[in-house]
Amino acid sequence: MRDDNCIFCKIANGDIPSKEIYEDEEFKVILDLGPATKGHALILPKNHYRDLYELPDEAATKVMLLAKKLASGMTQKLNCDGFNLVQNNGEAAGQTVFHFHLHLIPRYEDDGQTLGWKAMKPSGEELDEVRKIIVE
Ligand code: 5GP
Ligand code: ZN
Repeated sequence: MRDDNCIFCKIANGDIPSKEIYEDEEFKVILDLGPATKGHALILPKNHYRDLYELPDEAATKVMLLAKKLASGMTQKLNCDGFNLVQNNGEAAGQTVFHFHLHLIPRYEDDGQTLGWKAMKPSGEELDEVRKIIVE
């Protein structure tokens, strides 16, 4: 379950060195080389899944449990004030490395980062329309 052309496969399986903060049989967690804040880390499955759509349910469950555990531990160690868990899924959403990864981004009161979006102002009818598309 590896892709020879994938940099995160190489990192997750130890072929390329990284600033690792956690490892088990199925995952490696590394510091991001271009961090948004101090401690910004990436959870990488050792198997190659391109994105969330390809991630098996069992791995998805484990990723979230691991994120919870690491966010709690890192909050203690880094003394951060909050956390963003981010997964950019697909090019339109900002994904640049097509090996599933979850960003763990510690947040500090004065970190100066803005991870967010401009809120649209849909009417009630517009919300009903999109709701219909999704649920029907
Ligand atoms: P994406 O935009 O796909 O959600 O996130 C890719 C992330 O991987 C970026 O935050 C980028 O800084 C990080 N990144 C890209 N290449 C490497 C690398 O070789 N090593 C590490 N540690 N991080 C990387
Ligand atoms: Zn890969």
